[in-house]
Amino acid sequence: MKVTVLEQTDNTLQMRVEGVRPGLMNAIRRIMLAETPTMAIEEVVILENQSPLFDEIIAHRLGLVPLKTNYDQYVLSSDCSCEGVGCHLCQAGFTMEVEAPEDGFIATTGDLKPQDPEVVPVSDKIPIAKLAKGQRIVVEAYARLGIGQDHAKWQPVSTMAYKMVPHVKVDNNKCDGCKECVEVCFRQVFEMQKDKAVVVDEENCTLCNLCVETCDVQAITVSHDENNFIVTIESTGALPPMVIFEKGLDVFRKKYEELITSLPGRVPKAALKKPPAKKKAPTKKPKKKAPTKKKAPTKKKAPTKKTKATASKTKTKTTSKSKTKKKK
Ligand code: SF4
Ligand code: SF4
Ligand SMILES: [Zn+2]
Repeated sequence: MKVTVLEQTDNTLQMRVEGVRPGLMNAIRRIMLAETPTMAIEEVVILENQSPLFDEIIAHRLGLVPLKTNYDQYVLSSDCSCEGVGCHLCQAGFTMEVEAPEDGFIATTGDLKPQDPEVVPVSDKIPIAKLAKGQRIVVEAYARLGIGQDHAKWQPVSTMAYKMVPHVKVDNNKCDGCKECVEVCFRQVFEMQKDKAVVVDEENCTLCNLCVETCDVQAITVSHDENNFIVTIESTGALPPMVIFEKGLDVFRKKYEELITSLPGRVPKAALKKPPAKKKAPTKKPKKKAPTKKKAPTKKKAPTKKTKATASKTKTKTTSKSKTKKKK
């Protein structure tokens, strides 16, 4: 696998990922969407609400506010020693107390006062409620780590998409310079140069095939590479996009390790430590051949060649046989 960063800003990342099968790429995408933990407000205590909004609406709006996440200080409440009750290891608190100084005052995320300065809303301009003069809202809120598959508020990305790397070619010998491909392509992949269509931005192609259908002389071919992808990650602001990618891969690695260790042949590792006894057994196998009915005495030795667990059984069998023979 090879990863090349094409473009990166505070909240967006575009990169080229090569040498990956579509199934694996999609698994990574889904993990980033649904299983990369972020902080979000999970519990809201409404102490006073004079706004025209129901308590539930205010709580819902607070829950959807993206919060900057600090992985190093918090654990999932399900993994916390408090067993989900809520403590400084698994939750961060906020308070908000606002009173509108005038009609039309808008309470925003800027009015949320965080207990942890590192867990704050990604913006202080997200509106929560519009108030008339003198109306008050007083709340306590508690944020916890969670994952997107439990609720979308814990999803760290607004966009996580990929496309296969496109390949667009123009056969200059066939091109008659009609310009139709330039006009029909909404991604500006082509330009006319010296009365011929030229590919100038191949990676911008969406593989829609409009140009192929438009070109009457079949001068254009569009294909894609199934093992190379252009990946676009747009963060909500909760985490830098590169961190989301790394955490997603980390979650994927843990899943992979769990799968490997759960394989039937690997579970009894403790049992596999006994092989020394099993290794000695093979030397006894030749003795098993002894009981090949040639001599009764050798049959009695055979039992000792088997594992300890089966030895007693084999001994009883052999003794019974010897008895039956004697009777005969
Ligand atoms: S549509 Fe075909 S013939 Fe016309 S400019 Fe494009 S490549 Fe050339
Ligand atoms: S396939 Fe679509 S996006 Fe790609 S070059 Fe042709 S018209 Fe443009
Ligand atoms: Zn806790």
